[in-house]
Amino acid sequence: MRGKLVVGNWKMNGGLKANAQLLSALTAGWAGAPDRQLAVCVAYPYLVQAQAALSSTPIAWGAQDVSEHAAGAYTGEVSAAMLAEFGCRYAIVGHSERRQLYCDTDAIVGAKAKSALGAGVTPIACVGETLVERDAGTTERVVLRQLDAVLAAVGADAAKLVVAYEPVWAIGTGRTATSEQAQQVHVRLRARMREAGAADVALLYGGSVKADNAKALFAMADIDGGLIGGASLKADDFLAIGAA
Ligand code: PEP
Repeated sequence: MRGKLVVGNWKMNGGLKANAQLLSALTAGWAGAPDRQLAVCVAYPYLVQAQAALSSTPIAWGAQDVSEHAAGAYTGEVSAAMLAEFGCRYAIVGHSERRQLYCDTDAIVGAKAKSALGAGVTPIACVGETLVERDAGTTERVVLRQLDAVLAAVGADAAKLVVAYEPVWAIGTGRTATSEQAQQVHVRLRARMREAGAADVALLYGGSVKADNAKALFAMADIDGGLIGGASLKADDFLAIGAA
């Protein structure tokens, strides 16, 4: 049976003091559970703080992006090997904000996933359609195109991925996909992962997940947890989602 994975995406939020409070509340409130993994993906400068606070706890940490390159003249970039040095278990790749604001193409997202795996960091590969794409009836085509690019890049390592379905129209909008809408897409993603020999990868849902809707979403057969933005910045809310 697949367990549940709940990952907080802090985005470009936080600061040393606020992080210390949040991390301390999370470690105090999360004893761990055999079938549940909690993780937070923090901004790069705070990886060392997350590592220090979480190292001897059941909570994992990670980054919100990673370079597709191993090393060299890539000003501003951070390699997967660097993330590994700071104990990152996860790196989000292909978040819709990266795709929309920083031109991360399907090919770049695939290359980033491959690069993370090369350093032993698990990529959380995000896929998701915009509202225009959903209204045009192209949701399935879009998410499978995005997923296929990652699968093509990682080849035989497909089973080492985590995949997050994040409808763009539901991110930070307060608008959540219904459990049924999310499950419908997850079924298609699961089928594709099965074809790739990786049927049991964790498929997360992300998009305005809150303490009061997490249980219904996570109860769906193919939803193995969540990628949580806004609600991951409040310890009580994130802990409640983790336990949902
Ligand atoms: C996200 O940014 O990955 C996300 C899901 O954000 P939110 O939960 O705030 O919608």
